[in-house]
Amino acid sequence: MDEVVSKRFGFDSDDSVDFTADGADSEWLVRSGSATEDAFQNILRPARFADYIGQERVRENLGIAISASTRRDEALDHILLYGPPGLGKTTLAAIIANERGVGFKATSGPVLEKPGDLAAVLSGLQPFDVLFIDEIHRLNRVVEEVLYPAMEDFHIDIIVGQGPAARSVKLNLPPFTLVGATTRTGLLTAPLRDRFGIVERMNFYTPDELTEVVVRSARLLDIRIEPTGAREIARRSRGTPRIANRLLKRARDFAEERADGVLSHEVAAAALSLLEIDALGLSRMDRELISVLIRKFQGGPVGLDTLGAAIHEDKVTIEDVYEPYLMELGFLVRTPRGRQATVLAWEHLGIAGPAPSASPGFADVGE
Ligand code: ADP
Repeated sequence: MDEVVSKRFGFDSDDSVDFTADGADSEWLVRSGSATEDAFQNILRPARFADYIGQERVRENLGIAISASTRRDEALDHILLYGPPGLGKTTLAAIIANERGVGFKATSGPVLEKPGDLAAVLSGLQPFDVLFIDEIHRLNRVVEEVLYPAMEDFHIDIIVGQGPAARSVKLNLPPFTLVGATTRTGLLTAPLRDRFGIVERMNFYTPDELTEVVVRSARLLDIRIEPTGAREIARRSRGTPRIANRLLKRARDFAEERADGVLSHEVAAAALSLLEIDALGLSRMDRELISVLIRKFQGGPVGLDTLGAAIHEDKVTIEDVYEPYLMELGFLVRTPRGRQATVLAWEHLGIAGPAPSASPGFADVGE
């Protein structure tokens, strides 16, 4: 069980949470790629609500629940956080533990292969600890079933022995809080979803909030940046703090190698153009997706499988990584017959738009 990271989140460089991710291009966008990248993310990870920028509603709801559970001296209710990768779900889970003054353990759905893996994690918990399970929708069914009584009544049933001598032994657990993270709640089975008392959706960050993230990170990393430079990076970060931090780091390299080391507006813009990030923050892959949709399929609607095959990208990655931001921009809609590009997407690519009747409008925008 060495994949399980067990500690309080702070600013230690080894404070990494190592999750596996699929898809090289999406990994560049959203996941930590290397040990250095992990260390970098962890220096920047806020440890308290006071340093956590944005997500006002989520912070307020959680703040109330934390104080109430502290006053009653009870474990905080189980919490499900959902939203696209890189928006701060892991960070928030660690903050919840810090604010509640309890221990924090983190693992992820795919890591917990067998019921015994989960039992080992659960039996190591101290009273009121926070257990964070990332990608909780990827838990396999047998492991998930162990979680139900653990969440509901704080016990697990383990099978001891084999064959006719096998018997079930009930193991009591201390009260704990499960924080689950997923990209979409629809991916969870109903019995699991129903066992969370608090369900919070994470939103994309506004340019102002991301500017704050960039300025804070630049301060922590000793990067010289002008307010207009921070704004430019924020504007092009797809509403996602993880991407903002990553672009800041790349732009710093550019400023040091090709300019005087100061991240001005011009230097930031030049650095991001070199990375093929356009004025709206779309990456080459985002543009490829809408371009194929428009050029090959006349704007759609086209089924997800067909689209995935056309751009050589995994369906799940398209749904979890690319689509949410394209939908946020109003470039793409999900219709019952498949994905459709909007007039805004045609305009962004500089292609003459479809006839007005082919435009789906925005009424169809789905979750
Ligand atoms: P998720 O778990 O949703 O994929 P993370 O919690 O790993 O996202 O966040 C990615 C990085 O973005 C963190 O290392 C942190 O530095 C930064 N970050 C996320 N949310 C915030 C926030 N609200 N304020 C400041 N930085 C943030």
